[in-house]
Amino acid sequence: ERKAALDAAKGPGATSDGHKVPLLANVGGPADVPAAVEAGAEGVGLFRTEFLFLDDSERAPSEEKQVEAYRKVLEAFPEGRVVVRVLDAGADKPLDFLTPGDEPNPALGVRGLRTLLDHPEVLQSQLRALAKAAEGLPVYLEVMAPMVADRADAKAFADACREAGLNAKFGAMVEIPSAALRARSVLQEVEFLSLGTNDLAQYTFAADRQVGAVSRLQDPWQPALLDLVAASAEAAKAEGKSCGVCGEAAADPLLACVLTGLGVTSLSMGASAIPFVRAQLAKHTLAQCERAASAARAADSGPEARAAAQAVLSGE
Ligand code: PEP
Ligand code: MG
Repeated sequence: ERKAALDAAKGPGATSDGHKVPLLANVGGPADVPAAVEAGAEGVGLFRTEFLFLDDSERAPSEEKQVEAYRKVLEAFPEGRVVVRVLDAGADKPLDFLTPGDEPNPALGVRGLRTLLDHPEVLQSQLRALAKAAEGLPVYLEVMAPMVADRADAKAFADACREAGLNAKFGAMVEIPSAALRARSVLQEVEFLSLGTNDLAQYTFAADRQVGAVSRLQDPWQPALLDLVAASAEAAKAEGKSCGVCGEAAADPLLACVLTGLGVTSLSMGASAIPFVRAQLAKHTLAQCERAASAARAADSGPEARAAAQAVLSGE
């Protein structure tokens, strides 16, 4: 019965009073597309392109091979948005030919956009492949950089996209607290933000996402993390731009309501979570989500924030 109810409602994500929150899928490549389509995803909010680079530890995949893979994902969402993240190598995703092997703290070293700025030929080849893949398709291509720290990073990425002749929207992932604190400055260079709450939690609480012993500090319900989400969403609103979430936080139906209340404009998650998030969001008005968000931010810990939001949303 529950499955039937979830299957019945496959429309666009929205609160009960019609405030639209597009529900997008996180994908790792063409193999993840059928599940995303089946779940009724309105597009792709995070295409992790790392998978393509895993076959060969010596060099980047050829441009042709990249074009083929990107095109398969882009073709699956003819009317929708597809947000492609350029290669995020380093730290938890090391690549032999790009990642320095001698860093004492790889998560704080050359990773993400930093790697690509050190290897501009890899970035240019990826951006050219994306431009070719999107040619002739009506899809709404967006390209974003991982691990943007400040306006200079955002500008370097936007410049690289322009150099490659890419006809797309350029965006920055907010995964480093500095980018959230100075989001308006970052937005002078790019057209959208996407919060990577997994890394944002790691860097906000100085808690390695790969170390189970500090998992208490990776809880995305923590009010400090919610504050950074709110700061980013407010900055985007003030600049007339969008601010999505593509970290694991978006896959928690209750937290998805809170993120919506904080002003986040789209939610991207693993396909299997989409029906649950859609159903939960459809139960509450935007004002109720906003009240839940305020209650969560007023709490002193992750578990208290969750309980406070739950109390608001179930007491209606
Ligand atoms: C994140 O950090 O939240 C994110 C979406 O990127 P990844 O998990 O691939 O680092
Ligand atoms: Mg990340």
